[in-house]
Amino acid sequence: MRNTTELPFCPRCGAKTFNSGPFKPWFCKSCDFKIYPNVAAAAGVFIFNTNNEVLFNKRAHDPGIGKLGLPGGFIDANETAEESVHREVKEEVGLEIAELKYLCSCPNQYFYGGINYNTLDIFYTAKALTETIEIDPNEVAAVYWRVPQTVSPEAMAFPSYRHALNVLLTTQGI
Ligand SMILES: [Zn+2]
Repeated sequence: MRNTTELPFCPRCGAKTFNSGPFKPWFCKSCDFKIYPNVAAAAGVFIFNTNNEVLFNKRAHDPGIGKLGLPGGFIDANETAEESVHREVKEEVGLEIAELKYLCSCPNQYFYGGINYNTLDIFYTAKALTETIEIDPNEVAAVYWRVPQTVSPEAMAFPSYRHALNVLLTTQGI
């Protein structure tokens, strides 16, 4: 597996003397080019309806195809985590949400396009303001409203999602 902590060539001068180990910054011995390989920020949300059910989605692509995910995704440049959650929820499932509250964060690894991205996943809870769901079929294969206690953490697509579900079940008094 190609990891973001491996880069065989300097991206500026092409030298093979690029040091891309676990320590930051990565640097080139030939041209002094430096890169800080920081984590990518992502956000996800547990959306509650009036029956105290949470919206889970079945992922339409890898990583984690067919497993359970949450609305959310990578945070864009110049976007807050909260803005990202509202945008991704609208794009993926067509819902408007309110009362966004921070739940927890958890490191994750996201393997996509031959690269293993180190991420920091930030999780929220929220309430659904609308009911009509319109899924983006490129992202979401299906959606399910489930009482969160009935969802097995093992069914979730990523270790960070399992962690967040456990935090939700143990801290939210639900
Ligand atoms: Zn170089």
